Amino acid sequence: MLNTLRRIVQEVNSAPDLQGALEIIVSRVKLSVSVDVASVYLLDAGTRDFVLRATNGLRKDAVGKVRLGYHEGLVGMVCEREEPVNIEDAPSHPRYRFISETGENPYHGFLGVPIIQHGKVLGVLVVRQRETRKFRDDEEAFLVTLAAQLAGAISHALASGEVTSALTRTEAMTAVLRGLPGSPGVAIGLALVVYPPANLEAIPDRAVADTEVEVASFEAAVAAVRDDLRDYANRMSALLPAEELALFDALLLMLDSDSLVGETVQHIRAGNWAPGALRETISRHVRVFESMEDSYLRERASDIRDLGRRILTHMQSTPVERTEFSAGTVLVGEDISASQLAEVPIDRLAGIVCASGSSSSHVAILAQALGIPAVMGIKDMPVGRLDGQAIIADGYRGDVFVNPTVLVREEFALLQSQETELTELLRNVAGQPSVTPDGVEVPLYLNIGLVSGTGTEVHSEGDGVGLYRTEVPFLMQVRFPSEEEQLRIYRSALEAFAPRPVNLRTLDVGGDKMLPYFPVYEDNPFLGWRGIRISLDHPEIFLVQIRAMLRASLGFNNLNIMLPMVSSVSELDIAMTLISQAHGELLEDGMPVMRPGIGIMIEVPSAVYQIEAMAKRVDFFSIGTNDLTQYLLAVDRNNSRVASLYQCLHPAVLRAIQQVVEQAQRYGKPVSVCGEMAGDPAAALALLGLRVNSLSMSVSNLPRVKWVIRSFAQSEAIELLEQALELEEPRAIRTMYNQILEQGGLGGLVRAGN
Ligand code: PEP
Ligand code: MG
Repeated sequence: MLNTLRRIVQEVNSAPDLQGALEIIVSRVKLSVSVDVASVYLLDAGTRDFVLRATNGLRKDAVGKVRLGYHEGLVGMVCEREEPVNIEDAPSHPRYRFISETGENPYHGFLGVPIIQHGKVLGVLVVRQRETRKFRDDEEAFLVTLAAQLAGAISHALASGEVTSALTRTEAMTAVLRGLPGSPGVAIGLALVVYPPANLEAIPDRAVADTEVEVASFEAAVAAVRDDLRDYANRMSALLPAEELALFDALLLMLDSDSLVGETVQHIRAGNWAPGALRETISRHVRVFESMEDSYLRERASDIRDLGRRILTHMQSTPVERTEFSAGTVLVGEDISASQLAEVPIDRLAGIVCASGSSSSHVAILAQALGIPAVMGIKDMPVGRLDGQAIIADGYRGDVFVNPTVLVREEFALLQSQETELTELLRNVAGQPSVTPDGVEVPLYLNIGLVSGTGTEVHSEGDGVGLYRTEVPFLMQVRFPSEEEQLRIYRSALEAFAPRPVNLRTLDVGGDKMLPYFPVYEDNPFLGWRGIRISLDHPEIFLVQIRAMLRASLGFNNLNIMLPMVSSVSELDIAMTLISQAHGELLEDGMPVMRPGIGIMIEVPSAVYQIEAMAKRVDFFSIGTNDLTQYLLAVDRNNSRVASLYQCLHPAVLRAIQQVVEQAQRYGKPVSVCGEMAGDPAAALALLGLRVNSLSMSVSNLPRVKWVIRSFAQSEAIELLEQALELEEPRAIRTMYNQILEQGGLGGLVRAGN
């Protein structure tokens, strides 16, 4: 059963298009459950009808023609109930609707199971039997399991089909892909697909510039892999038995086979570039091997994949011309790394569209810091088909429009110009103090450090730096940066902002930030070895960092040190002892460095409940709502599947912040918020009501938040918060705040809609 299931899903996943996928489903289901008919009805998103899209057993000419209303017939019943409907004799059921076009007279037994993806019914898988009979429990369970697994593939194929038809139809048609808002703004430009090295599946199709150059690059890579394999075989000959060594011969044979080389060259000559042509060949071969009955032969699929990866690696290591980035480049990828983003000159980068992640992923934070619109978490994005296509990314709503029609373009160009007007308007607050109408000062600090170089720019806006993420100098190196290297980087940041305060946060790697030269593989990295935990286990790294920070502050005296991910008092005590040790050493060495302010990030729920003990030890608190939200709500901040649950305006998050502020202020210790929440205008209004002392955000969000602070009295914000806390749903709270901002004439700030 499991094998059949796996095989069907694999075949469906590698089908060339939606129709191909549906044909595979109906033919394999008919065979494996031994039924007379298997059909798939899919929901037409426009008309909300169910359309018969594939059948094996009913009349083929009915496909595409038979339509059932959303609530019509037994198919409608499956959809309404969102559960299987198993009926012995369908024609005698009151909900049965006879359809003459399909030729279904002789069938009695009926089993329909819904195909549901992310809580939405996409369609219904139906099997029919001539005889009057109820389907067995195990048959029903099999189809439910299959439908659940197929939902993803179907939804992917639907999105991909929509994009393909938008790109191939002669009349103008726009395909819309729905994701999550990542960074506000609208990007209009051309898609450039980026992909991780040596990941064959992620390689897009791309038009070939010079066929002969591509063929030569492919053949050179094949020759290099052949040499590598011979070399491995020679080196291993003394270590491995003959039967194991035969593997290398088998790989060499595959490599020399005309089907692999010849087929790829054919794809190149048909117009695809070498990596795309290689992907086409390899995935076809993998499919063939994976569908084989013999388990030994099935395993050979992974050898083929391995060969493909090796050839690709060689092609990618041949120096290629650096991609010419056109103006209006919209980077598109399954996953986009900081370095891929950094490769594009900023004046050419219009936007970011990422299949994974959410607004609190680091790539989105980076986009916000750069003021670049971003859409995240488009789960079913056919990445490979988007390269070079005209694209619009709406970072407010999280929508992406592929091949936009003139009308869509005009609409977004208008939105862009309104946005420019808003930016102009926001310029009015530049240089104005961040004070509420009832006279409460709420300093606005900057989050910097994620973008290399940002730390050294002089920002006239901002009352200082609330969060300097020191990870970047570490991420950009091939080894831990030395004390002198760190000293230079920190000093330029402290100097740029002096006399304004700068909170340098100690190294916070782990989770989704891995150092290339210090890899840590864990099952649950966000619950693992990250932040202060790594620093305390490696005092030699921590002490070097602290010394560099202290030395950097010499003469400026505007340094605060902030510790990430603190979850217990003992961690704080050890960290404080190490900081004192570093400070003492420097004094002994004759460097008159001042003791810096020391604060901790409140981002682990356990810290929320230990404020009293912590307050006796530190000078300030800064709430890291990005992590606090993920840990309080048990929602991975990077997982687009659960991104709709990731809500910083959740009553639990608000109450946690309330508790921190109340406790800390009892001890006279200030509280700031430096998660992305602080830069969100609606959430900033809530934080004003929570009596947070200051906010820290990326420079691009600062004017919006300052406008909010200057527009609402704190007394009013406190009343609004009381109302908000009466609401039980995060969405209701969000809507309430958005409405308040709109009523206050600040609608432009919340166009995100959420
Ligand atoms: C946070 O968790 O809110 C935070 C500011 O830290 P980071 O996003 O770097 O984890
Ligand atoms: Mg954090």
